[in-house]
Amino acid sequence: MSNEKEKSPAALLKERLFMDKKHAGLVMTEEQTAECDDFCESYKDFLNGAKTEREAAASAIALAKEEGFKEYVKGMSLKAGDKIYFNNRGKAVILAVIGSEPAEKGVHLAAAHIDSPRIDLKQNPLYEDNEVALFKTHYYGGIKKYQWATIPLAIHGVIIKKDGTKITVCIGEEENDPVFFISDLLPHLAQEQVKRTLSEGIKGEELNIIVGSRPFRDDDVSEKVKLNIMSLLHEKYGIIESDFLSAELEMVPAFKAKDIGFDRSLIGSYGHDDRVCAYTALEAILGCSKVNKTAVVCLTDKEETGSDGNTGLCSAYLKNFLYDLADSFGVKGRDLVSNTECLSADVNAAFDPTFPDVVEKKNAAFLNYGVVVTKFTGARGKSGTSDASAEFVARVRALMEKNNIIWQTGELGKVDLGGGGTVAAYLANLDMDVIDVGVPVLAMHAPYEVVAKADVYMTYKAFRSFFEE
Ligand code: MN
Ligand code: MN
Repeated sequence: MSNEKEKSPAALLKERLFMDKKHAGLVMTEEQTAECDDFCESYKDFLNGAKTEREAAASAIALAKEEGFKEYVKGMSLKAGDKIYFNNRGKAVILAVIGSEPAEKGVHLAAAHIDSPRIDLKQNPLYEDNEVALFKTHYYGGIKKYQWATIPLAIHGVIIKKDGTKITVCIGEEENDPVFFISDLLPHLAQEQVKRTLSEGIKGEELNIIVGSRPFRDDDVSEKVKLNIMSLLHEKYGIIESDFLSAELEMVPAFKAKDIGFDRSLIGSYGHDDRVCAYTALEAILGCSKVNKTAVVCLTDKEETGSDGNTGLCSAYLKNFLYDLADSFGVKGRDLVSNTECLSADVNAAFDPTFPDVVEKKNAAFLNYGVVVTKFTGARGKSGTSDASAEFVARVRALMEKNNIIWQTGELGKVDLGGGGTVAAYLANLDMDVIDVGVPVLAMHAPYEVVAKADVYMTYKAFRSFFEE
């Protein structure tokens, strides 16, 4: 109080009228920081065990079952307090906790995506070139291709044999597993390569994965290295080469999630985009037992390739689920949907002190300033945005402040520089109120991305408050 008396009238007026942004490290109590660090330990475990959309879906379902969630069957009778999940082809999951308010009043929905940029195998991947065995690949999502060379890669995915047998593959994650590798030229011989643009530094058809080099011991046959690899795969999985045709095999960084910095304030990991929002939304709904409005979390696939496909949010699967939910309560699906409020949960770009020029600092998101609320995304003249209404922004603003959530606003870079989108527009097109919220990320879409622990925790708190209103 004594300090305030010394402040000039102008200083006091400024304090009253101006916006005030504070670093989470200066606002959070010691207990909150400890809770935040604890939460992030579980988040790192989730990241290490869920590097693909299939693994993230399976992890989410396993965690949900532990909390008493039951698989939803169309037409099942539902009452307040029931916890259900819907599994869409093993690649997307919807979870719901039924609320006590009537269903026609809508639900509280959070939607995040569980696919991340990666390198997929082509359908016919295995070949031998000069006695090295390699896989041909086709990258998935927006990547800077050169970043994916000369790092340890793990292989994850499934092979479905002609008879429908499913073989699950995961090599490169255990301490003694082998890993896989995309090579790059030594600088001594890269005089021509270094003249390429950064985006062509490594070209798409140069993202070939080295998978072996030892020949099958035989003097007669050709392609002995490839034969040796096929023979090892046949021994381990019982597959033949044509089984690759019906496989989904994904190369992802073999790195584990780790704390970053002397102060351990940050987390480095593959796939924060968007498992950081998926995990925080998931934990928020798993922690809910009684809710007024039905809480729904949708963990979707295919965001990184534009949300098309039957596991992406351009498909009808979420709408169908919500309509079925409405049916269970004898109300119209369209009433439930149009009264729904949605937090579209996805990451945003964090201000990077090494590359300050791409953002406009007054409107950029910063590490450690909390959950980012983004009114609009899009490119150029907001192309592709759903642009949340001022009314809905005010509503979310009040929610954050009432629950003491540290939050900030954000945008995806300078107006003319680039831009991007999320699933927000597809949800808004269903006729619900939608706004983007999420965690600021450094080096988004790189094999190793960085987030701040405080922002992860505040994002979790935001979802939790939203559901528990
Ligand atoms: Mn994303
Ligand atoms: Mn992304």
